Amino acid sequence: KTFTKEEIKQIVVDENVEFIRVTFTDVLGAIKNVEVPTSQLDKVLDNNLMFDGSSIEGFVRINESDMYLYPDLSTFMIFPWETDGHGGKVARLIADIYTSDREPFAGDPRHALRSVLADAREAGFTAFNVGTEPEFFLFKLDENGNPTTELNDKGGYFDLAPLDMGENVRREIVLTLEKMGFEIEAAHHEVAEGQHEVDFKYASALEAADNIQTFKLVVKTIARKNGYYATFMPKPVAGINGSGMHTNMSLFTKDGNSFVDTSDEMGLSKTAYNFLGGILEHATAFTALANPTVNSYKRLTPGFEAPVYVAWSASNRSPMVRVPASRGNSTRLELRSVDPTANPYTALAAILASGLDGIKRELEPLASVDKNIYLMDEVEREKAGITDLPDTLLAAVRELAADDVVRSAIGEHIADKFIEAKKIEYTSYRQFVSEWETDSYLENY
Ligand code: GLN
Ligand code: MG
Ligand code: MG
Ligand code: MG
Repeated sequence: KTFTKEEIKQIVVDENVEFIRVTFTDVLGAIKNVEVPTSQLDKVLDNNLMFDGSSIEGFVRINESDMYLYPDLSTFMIFPWETDGHGGKVARLIADIYTSDREPFAGDPRHALRSVLADAREAGFTAFNVGTEPEFFLFKLDENGNPTTELNDKGGYFDLAPLDMGENVRREIVLTLEKMGFEIEAAHHEVAEGQHEVDFKYASALEAADNIQTFKLVVKTIARKNGYYATFMPKPVAGINGSGMHTNMSLFTKDGNSFVDTSDEMGLSKTAYNFLGGILEHATAFTALANPTVNSYKRLTPGFEAPVYVAWSASNRSPMVRVPASRGNSTRLELRSVDPTANPYTALAAILASGLDGIKRELEPLASVDKNIYLMDEVEREKAGITDLPDTLLAAVRELAADDVVRSAIGEHIADKFIEAKKIEYTSYRQFVSEWETDSYLENY
């Protein structure tokens, strides 16, 4: 659904909206916003709202810092909270970023995704449909309102209350999202204590990425209102499952889902196999975008339902890509490596470009792995052509730097800024001496 300027103006009056938040996502995936009173609405809707890009991580140099925000009118939404006490309602618009010369800004992650989507259209695809399964933990707050590492329950997969203390919070999250127009397909306790998952309906990639950003904001807001802290950190607690964001994908043409071929043994088309071939080919390179933090690599370890190897399977959940059982229009590939710290715009741009490259080059995926990869030894894995995902952020960043397809999917501007920022992040981590090290070495050496 989209809105005209006139419709938005009318809703703002009818619903007593007093502030407009114009939001965007920086290179590192953080949501930023400029908030203006509704007296400035015309300026916003006419693409004349400016901000200083030099203060945003990974954007520009000081001397080219004036940027315009072009709101995407289809993203207009009124926040269902914040009505009480502090004036009227607050609405938001997600914006594309333009330079002072009114050109799309090369450092805008949303623009990067738009560009790859244009390539997909050029190749004959009308939509890249994406459905994600973000997982998160709820932690208790201390008496000063600061997050602790104390989990809020001892529940497990699909558990019910009273074990699942998060149930009420999760319900409120679901109801809030529904008020904001999300269609929630499932919400459940995840495997780890204090861990939850909420699945919303798939959407075309740009909207799916917008939804992920909105989703995180809602989860954090509602958790806090209930005295909890929600985190999308991939591995907040050692020794239990981490949080992933499984990403289900299919490419549609005007004739429907291009991944379907009922004459194939697995129901997959040549397009689907070639897309998969591209995913496997570029997996090590897009990992830095799908798993962009030091902590991401503590999740991608054996034993916690997260992938460690570049492989796929129809029947087994251990590989990086799985083919879920649903067929017909729901035929899709599920990429299981992605975690919720990914900037959804650049991650989806990189993943889509990888798949499109596979289609263009007609890359065949290696054979499906139908046994538990974690029970195969190195020799068996090598025979099956199974390689490892990068095991640290630095290794991942080096793979990204060496892959032209993935780098050009996000554009050289973003690639350079991202690689630079992540190298600094890794160096800072490396200089820290952890408790594990003093425990292991202090008395032994
Ligand atoms: N939490 C697991 C991960 O890290 C996924 C568990 C699941 O959804 N089956 O990816
Ligand atoms: Mg799930
Ligand atoms: Mg899950
Ligand atoms: Mg899943």
